[in-house]
Amino acid sequence: MIIDQKKIDEAIDTIVAYGGEYIRECVQCGACSAVCPGVRAGFPLLCRNLIRHLLNGQLEEIIEDSSSWGCQACSRCTEVCPQGVRPQEVVFAFRRYQANQLAFSTSSVTSQMNLFETGHAVYVDPKEARKKVGLPETTPTSAFDEQAKQEIQTLINNSPMGQLGLF
Ligand code: SF4
Ligand code: SF4
Repeated sequence: MIIDQKKIDEAIDTIVAYGGEYIRECVQCGACSAVCPGVRAGFPLLCRNLIRHLLNGQLEEIIEDSSSWGCQACSRCTEVCPQGVRPQEVVFAFRRYQANQLAFSTSSVTSQMNLFETGHAVYVDPKEARKKVGLPETTPTSAFDEQAKQEIQTLINNSPMGQLGLF
């Protein structure tokens, strides 16, 4: 993929439009990365590092990276950010941008399949673990809601991701 300055500017504009509107407020303090379970699990391009690459125009280095699919949507980064950047929104916006560009690493395919099948990019069947501690086996999320799953699958099929032929 050839990435020139116009493409970089378009990427930032798209990420701002998708919910990352406070990205330019980042002062690179690193508070978000310090609490991010995704970074600890080995997905380096989340939080501060992702924002730094985006603001520096280093799109070519990150466009096909799988880290955005490692976000657990825990909101810890957003809770600790002193600048109100809402890093989780930047990560999700970047993931959407990658999907629009059909820029996927092979290691993100499992996450995409999970998203299509359960509505969660990161998913582990919780039934056994919940049963062990006496909780209801299912959770009130899209994973156990057939209508929600169908709606998600329709959205994905009608998006650029549907063109990948994965589903
Ligand atoms: S929401 Fe995502 S990026 Fe933010 S701390 Fe959690 S895993 Fe990391
Ligand atoms: S906590 Fe906020 S200001 Fe600090 S690096 Fe993360 S996004 Fe930037």
